[in-house]
Amino acid sequence: MAELNTPYRLASKTPDKQQTVVTVRNSTIGGNELFMIAGPCAVESERQLFEIAGAVHAAGVPFLRGGAFKPRTSPYNFQGLEKEGLRLLKQASDTYGLGIITEVMDFSLLDLVYPYTDIIQVGSRNMKNYHFLKELGKTDKPILLKRGMDATVDEWLLAAEYILLGGNDQVILCERGIRTFDQSLRNTLDLGSVALVKELSHLPIVVDPSQGTGKRSVVGAMSKAAVAVGADGLMIEVHNDPDSALSDGPQSLSLDQFRKLMKELAVLSTVTGKRFKSKTLEMIDA
Ligand code: PEP
Ligand code: MN
Repeated sequence: MAELNTPYRLASKTPDKQQTVVTVRNSTIGGNELFMIAGPCAVESERQLFEIAGAVHAAGVPFLRGGAFKPRTSPYNFQGLEKEGLRLLKQASDTYGLGIITEVMDFSLLDLVYPYTDIIQVGSRNMKNYHFLKELGKTDKPILLKRGMDATVDEWLLAAEYILLGGNDQVILCERGIRTFDQSLRNTLDLGSVALVKELSHLPIVVDPSQGTGKRSVVGAMSKAAVAVGADGLMIEVHNDPDSALSDGPQSLSLDQFRKLMKELAVLSTVTGKRFKSKTLEMIDA
C-alpha cells in the first residue's frame, strides 16, 4: 500500500483523502474560499487593536491575528501584553465578529490562551517542540503550524503528523519563509514548497508573506504569488502606524496598503481556484 512507503502516513494524500477542509466560525480553509487573516504582529493597546480590527473587518477579512505572548529574539524587546492582550483580542472579536488566531508559545500557556482563540498558532520556533505538538494533538481547536525557519518540507509534514496522530485532524500548514544564504530579505519565502505540499498532502496551507520577506514593499507581490501557486489563504501583518509598531513594523502594511492589496487579490482570485467570500467582495466594492 502506498501509504506505508511514506513517512507521513496521516498527512499524505490518499485516494480517499485528497483535501482536508477546516471549518472554523463561518470560514473554510482548504475549500473554494481564499481564507484571509490580517492584524498586527503584536497586540499593543486597545486603541491600536481596535483601529486595526475595524479596518480588517471593513475589508471583509474574517480572521484577526495578534500576538499576546511574543517570541522575541531579544529579551529586551516588547514581549506582548500577555493576558491583557488576550482580553483585548476577545473584545475586538466580540465587537467586529472576527475570528481570532493567536500564538501559544508554550504548553504551560495552552489552558490560558485556549478560550480566547479560534485557531491556535504554533510559531516557527516551536515546530520541533514535539512534546508540545503531541499535547496539541489532544485539543479540539484548529492548529496553524508554521514551518520552522530551518525545517525541510519533510520535517514540517512530520511535525504535522505529531498533531494528527494525537487525534486532532484540523491542521493548517503555514509557509513563513526559511533562512538561506541570502540575507537581502529577512527570510526566503519558499513558494515552491507550497506547490509541493499541495501535491503531497491533503492539509490546507496558508502563506505568511510578512514574516516570509520582512519587507513591506514586497509583501503585496508575494501575496499575489502565493495565491497564484495555490495557497489556501494568507496571513498578513497590518498596522495603523507601522513605523511606530512595537514588533515587526518594517514588514507590516499600513491600513491603506492593505485595502489596496485586498482589491488586487479580489481581481486575481477570479482567475485562480480560490475566491473571496461574497461578503468580502461586497465590502471591497463598498
Ligand atoms: C508571527 O507570526 O508574528 C511570528 C512570530 O511568526 P513566526 O513564528 O513565523 O516567526
Ligand atoms: Mn510578526
